[in-house]
Amino acid sequence: CGIFGVIGVSDASSFVALGLHALQHRGQEAGGIVSHDPEQGFQSARRFGYVRDNFTSQAVMETLPGPLAIGHVRYSTAGSKGQTAIRDVQPFFGEFAMGGAAIAHNGNITNANALRRELIERGSIFQSSSDSECIIHLMARSLQRNIPERMEDALRRVEGAFSVVAMTRTKLIGVRDPLGVRPLVLGKVGDGWALSSETCALDIIGAEFIREIKPGEMVVITKDGVDSQFPFRPQKPRFCIFEHVYFSRPDSILGGRSVYETREAIGRELAKEAPVEADLVCPVPDSGTPAAIGYSLESGIPYAMGIIRNQYMGRTFIEPTEQIRNMGVRLKLNVNRALIEGKRVILVDDSVVRGTTSRKIKEMILDAGAKEVHFRIASPPTAWPCFYGVDTPQREKLLAATMSEEEMRDHLQVDSLRFISLDGLYRAVGEVEGRNNAQPQYCDACFSGEYPVEPADQIESGFEM
Ligand code: SF4
Ligand code: MG
Repeated sequence: CGIFGVIGVSDASSFVALGLHALQHRGQEAGGIVSHDPEQGFQSARRFGYVRDNFTSQAVMETLPGPLAIGHVRYSTAGSKGQTAIRDVQPFFGEFAMGGAAIAHNGNITNANALRRELIERGSIFQSSSDSECIIHLMARSLQRNIPERMEDALRRVEGAFSVVAMTRTKLIGVRDPLGVRPLVLGKVGDGWALSSETCALDIIGAEFIREIKPGEMVVITKDGVDSQFPFRPQKPRFCIFEHVYFSRPDSILGGRSVYETREAIGRELAKEAPVEADLVCPVPDSGTPAAIGYSLESGIPYAMGIIRNQYMGRTFIEPTEQIRNMGVRLKLNVNRALIEGKRVILVDDSVVRGTTSRKIKEMILDAGAKEVHFRIASPPTAWPCFYGVDTPQREKLLAATMSEEEMRDHLQVDSLRFISLDGLYRAVGEVEGRNNAQPQYCDACFSGEYPVEPADQIESGFEM
């Protein structure tokens, strides 16, 4: 999901709409905005579909006045797939002692089931099936005197991955979980401030990128400035390495470096680790493009757009049902026949999850007359589900969970298939020594099966680590 908040500008909700539009790649099912205005109080609008279709009309935006607003773009992760109800769309808003608060959450709470049971037993009335709603109820029950302290209280009970943007009547609040699994950045816009999942959304509103919110940090922003605290027990950070590979936009800055440059470096590393003789390097667009450029630069094999993407389709993966995903590949990608015919082609993609994309693309490219097809993947085999806010299917559905690399190659019927090594990926994201196996620098659970936070809810429902 993507989260965004602004304080201290007139018409904050318009800034939030623009920010969410730039974060649309992080969630396409639904979006919502909550604003606050001294005269009209809290206002909220939540809709299915794209930001550009919902939050551009004057009729909607007029209902969201004021100098303070937050928003959320959603894609459903483990638990509530596909059938998103409008009541599951964030931000969530609650009215309690000391005035109300609204929150938008990116990540996944790994002990949400236990928290929900406990809260319901004690009288909380849940409106949604979302794990994130626990935070609002925990805040309502806290005995602290002000909302930031109630939020600290609440988040200390929560396990898993959370980047949160919240608002009260007068404050914009941003928090990252102690491991800093999901991103969150701070920007300055005019006399006001912005919080965003990624820097690309600061660019769109002309905000200056100030810094990343640190793992375990909570910032409380008022018109007087930014107050920073560290309310959690400090831990060694474990940022999601897959943000570098796929999830973030290539024009965002992560860890002081553009995501594009990192992906190009991943492609270079892949070319060193898994060279092959061929005529062309083609990306599976768009997610494989920067890595394919890196592969081409390193290997000297010409880069070509052998597959053309229809720009009017969204990310296939994010469409939640199998059927739509299957069609999705053809709706979205087509082979550029003239380039491919008679050629030995290296196809570069960011990841293989179920194998749907790679299987279809291989068929399309052979139909178009390619002589050989070599797959090069810019991440290690995805053999484990993510429980921290990226939507991967159950373990059984992951190609790499049941097959070795050779078996996957045979299954896909390609001439060769190679994945970047985990160490190679770490080097490419800037860890020159590679992965520190005793204390990994990132979360890489979907590749390694080493979960930095125990996925309690999943274990309860039978998941075996
Ligand atoms: Fe990111 Fe994978 Fe960890 Fe999920 S499991 S947070 S996708 S690295
Ligand atoms: Mg892709």
